[in-house]
Parts: sequence; C-alpha cells; structure tokens
Amino acid sequence: MAATSVFVSGATGYIAQHVILQLIAKGYKVVGTVRSTEKGEDLKKKLKSDNFTYEIVKDIGVEGAFDEALKAHPEVTVFLHTASPFHFNVTDPEKDLLIPAVEGTKNALSAIATYGPQIKKVVVTSSYAAIGHHDVDAVASNTFTEDSWNEITWERSKGNALDGYYGSKTFAEKAAWDFVKEKKPNFTLSTVNPVYVFGPQAFASDATGTLNTSAEVINSILKLKSDDEVPSSAAAFIDVRDVAEAHLVAFENKDVEGQRLLLSSGRFTGQDILDIVNENFSKYVKGRIPTGVPGSGAEKIKTLATIDNSKTRKIIGHDFIGLKKTVVDTIQQVLDTNGSI
Ligand code: NAP
Repeated sequence: MAATSVFVSGATGYIAQHVILQLIAKGYKVVGTVRSTEKGEDLKKKLKSDNFTYEIVKDIGVEGAFDEALKAHPEVTVFLHTASPFHFNVTDPEKDLLIPAVEGTKNALSAIATYGPQIKKVVVTSSYAAIGHHDVDAVASNTFTEDSWNEITWERSKGNALDGYYGSKTFAEKAAWDFVKEKKPNFTLSTVNPVYVFGPQAFASDATGTLNTSAEVINSILKLKSDDEVPSSAAAFIDVRDVAEAHLVAFENKDVEGQRLLLSSGRFTGQDILDIVNENFSKYVKGRIPTGVPGSGAEKIKTLATIDNSKTRKIIGHDFIGLKKTVVDTIQQVLDTNGSI
C-alpha cells in the first residue's frame, strides 16, 4: 500500500518542522507549503528526505491561496493547517493577524472541499488563545477545558497585537468549525490547542539569534542583566515535541474526530524559568542574569485558573514533557549551536 500523503501548511514554522520530522519518521509522505522557493529548498536540505516535497503559497490570506497546491496533489488524504501569523510585531492587528488567520483557514478548507475531495482528515492548529483570554486565565476560581471558548470580540481584537493574536486564533478556529457545520464536507475536523510552546528547534542550526515567538520567551532570559526585573510572565507551557505528536494523534486516532486537543503540561512563571537556567547553566549565567526569589513562582501560579485537560491527556496516553526538560533542552541547543549563551 502506498504511504499516506499528508499536506502541511506553514511547513517552515517552529511547530510544523517538528510535525514533519515525526511524520517522515513514521513513514508518511509530506507535501508542505512555504512562502518561497528559497525557503522550500532550505527546508528540503535540512530534512534530507525524498518523502518531502513543497508547494509555494505566498500568502494564505489571499482568496484561492491553496487551490493550485491541492490540484497538484490528488494523492494527499490528510491536511494539517498550521500556518498562521504568530508574532506581535504588527502595526494593524486586524490586517496583520486577524484577517490572514481567518481567511487563511477559510481558504484552506474551501480548497480542500473543492479540489481535495479525497481528503478525509483535517487538523487545524488552533491555540489556548481560542480557549481563554489572559484576563480570565488570571482568575484562580476559573477552570478551562477542551469545551471552553475565549469570548473576545472582533472589536477588542483590533485594539493591540496581543488581543489581535487572541482574536486571530479564536475567530479562525470558529470559522473552521462553522465551515464543517454548514458545508458538511467530505472530511472530519480536529483541532490542536496548545498553550505556550517551548523546546528546541527541529534543526539545531536555527537555534541562533532571535527565536520564534514562543521559544524566545526562554531564550530572552539569557539576554537579561543581573539588575533587570524578573519577567512577570505567568502562563502555561507544553513542549513542541508533544505538540507535534498530538498533530499525528489528531488524524490517526478516530476518537479525536470532531474534538479539540488542549495541550498543556503545566504552569510556569518567569521566575521558574530563571530558576532552571540558573541551576542548570550556572557556569555561564551566574551573576549575569537575575536570580529573583528562587522558588517563589509557585505562589504566583496559585493565583491562576485551572487548566483541566484530562480528556486530552487520556487520549495522548503518556505524561507530557516537564518544564525542566523543555527549558534545559531549549537552552542547551542554543549553547551547542552558538558555542556560548
Ligand atoms: P511560526 O514558527 O511563526 O510558524 C508560522 C508559520 O506560518 C510559518 O511557516 C509562517 O511562514 C507561516 N505563515 C504565517 N503567516 C502566513 C501567511 N500570511 N501566509 C503564508 N504563510 C504564513 O509559529 P509556530 O509557533 O510554529 O506556530 C504554528 C501554529 O501554532 C500557528 O497557527 C500558531 O498560532 C499556533 N500556536 C503556536 C503556539 C506557540 O506557542 N508556538 C501556541 C499555540 C498555537 P513564514 O515563516 O515564512 O512567515
């Protein structure tokens, strides 16, 4: 039997590259979309696999963006839609985040319905951002599950980059579920909703300079000076290798059809990351970065909402990678790649 072919939008992304590595390791063929030939060739070189090919999709937000790529690949039966803008460097949140995310998702699904009738499974990479806003995540009495939705409005989403990102993921995921409900296409939909994704880059050569938005939360700790404030971040994390695996589970496991996987390993604070870096890389950072009040992160975590993803954990069937390993692996890779941190 021919190997199953999986289409991955946004193939050059931090998460997508791990997804592709895991797909290839399991014997799948992969067709990725990238924005340019240069990016496609670079990824092909890194993957060193004949089971990876690419198509150019310059901008997912343009109507018909995926039509030609899908027409060219009638062998594809699974579509993983990971592409979406994830950065806060925007001047107009509606134009730069909301519209590409929502239209990109609609364009992907319409192309599948029209030009990929053989596609049976679609997985959309959504986010915890579509589940809870940080306002309500910061209330200890709240609980968020696979059934929760961020109640952010389009109007509020236009206000700033962070709200723009929350809105982009919420409205893009809603658009995907609405599409399935209204059009009753040939495919089933599942979503993967990760919290902050940490962990090493798929390819060590990328662990240099400024990293992707979420891994940079860890990397930026190395750029602090001893008298800088401890970063006030207090959120939840999941390792990128667990996120990648969940994308495979989302189409391989029939129980995930029509479901959302809420991926969270646990909570973290800026202090917790500092503690791990100071403890495990003291030779390099001692006295150079702040120490704060070691161990005090736990108190702050008590003020946050509960994330109850027991349904997802049962489906995945093993523990998620913990904070120490995800932080140490991220920093160790930066150290190995650059020779210093
Ligand atoms: P990333 O490294 O920035 O990857 C995003 C990918 O999407 C890149 O390949 C990017 O291409 C592509 N892309 C963005 N806008 C595009 C557009 N308008 N047209 C075509 N391609 C476009 O981010 P990531 O962390 O891997 O995120 C991947 C997905 O996971 C996103 O849907 C994100 O919202 C979601 N997510 C991420 C996290 C996290 O903490 N990392 C958490 C929850 C959900 P270029 O690089 O060429 O621009």
